[in-house]
Amino acid sequence: MQKNQKRLTEVKGLKCTACKDEAILRIKRHHVAFCQRCFIKFIQKQTIQAIKKYHMFSKKEPVLLAVSGGKDSMALWSVLSELDNQITTIHLDLGIPNFSDQSRQVVQQFAKDKTLPLVVIYLKELLGYTLPELQKKVHRPACSVCGLTKRFLLNHYAYHHHFSVLATGHNLDDEAATLLGNILRWREGYLRHQSPCLPSDYPGLVKKVKPFYTLTDEEILCYVQQMKIPFCDSICPLSQKASSLDFKKALKVIEDQSPGTKHYFLFHYLEKKHDLFPEKQSNVILKNCSWCGMPTTQERCSFCSILERTQSKSQLFIGKDDIEP
Ligand code: SF4
Ligand SMILES: [Zn+2]
Ligand SMILES: [Zn+2]
Repeated sequence: MQKNQKRLTEVKGLKCTACKDEAILRIKRHHVAFCQRCFIKFIQKQTIQAIKKYHMFSKKEPVLLAVSGGKDSMALWSVLSELDNQITTIHLDLGIPNFSDQSRQVVQQFAKDKTLPLVVIYLKELLGYTLPELQKKVHRPACSVCGLTKRFLLNHYAYHHHFSVLATGHNLDDEAATLLGNILRWREGYLRHQSPCLPSDYPGLVKKVKPFYTLTDEEILCYVQQMKIPFCDSICPLSQKASSLDFKKALKVIEDQSPGTKHYFLFHYLEKKHDLFPEKQSNVILKNCSWCGMPTTQERCSFCSILERTQSKSQLFIGKDDIEP
């Protein structure tokens, strides 16, 4: 609420750069302000431009959109559902107390209200464990287990259900924080692969796209508020130790002093990435996991290694023979 009040004070008296109506949001890094109508057009235009620039998907390609119930994925769902594309949405219910139920209900209600296709997968039904139960079994930080589980299951579902593209709601703030984290720890492998569009370069790996990578947290929040899109704004109770939040905070301090820095940081990295990491220097060799058949650099993929430790009786591996190396 305080954030909204601050924003409204900042734009008081400002006119929309496009039509001269009263502005609702100032976007300092672009030196513009927009009224409600022009702001909604701006969000749609940025999304379409991102899709085109990176050749994320065409109208003919079936897209699987991962929706958590948070503002970013709900906003992306709303924008993509207005386009003439084949979008199916998937939600993973992680079974996190005081969080997962609310998230799932928001997603299910939106799908019902707008009559949009939605798949819901319950982790407990699929693996026999909720996320907190899984984390206890493997003794790893919650977000690390959660990230690995989501990446594996979403890709697995998309591949076995013939979706050529998996879209997520990651935005400019998420991507800039990830970039900062990878540079601070000098994770060359992750830096090499950071992109709004990761092509499918091995059977079993579905193309991953982030159509909101040019939009900030603030802009997306303003969009869901203006469009009255419901979203779950509860904070995940397991998130306390997520270092990405610290990187976001650090970038915010810099951005407040020098608007546009975050945008410059991410976009110039993406432009220069190919000079820094020419594709030919990549020496990652993928093979098929001996358990699930999905691509991995090891004999057994990281997700199966976790499941082995939990002795899960998951039925996930029935698709193993479908994957052609
Ligand atoms: S905060 Fe961590 S544990 Fe919670 S949903 Fe996000 S990644 Fe998963
Ligand atoms: Zn306007
Ligand atoms: Zn595996």
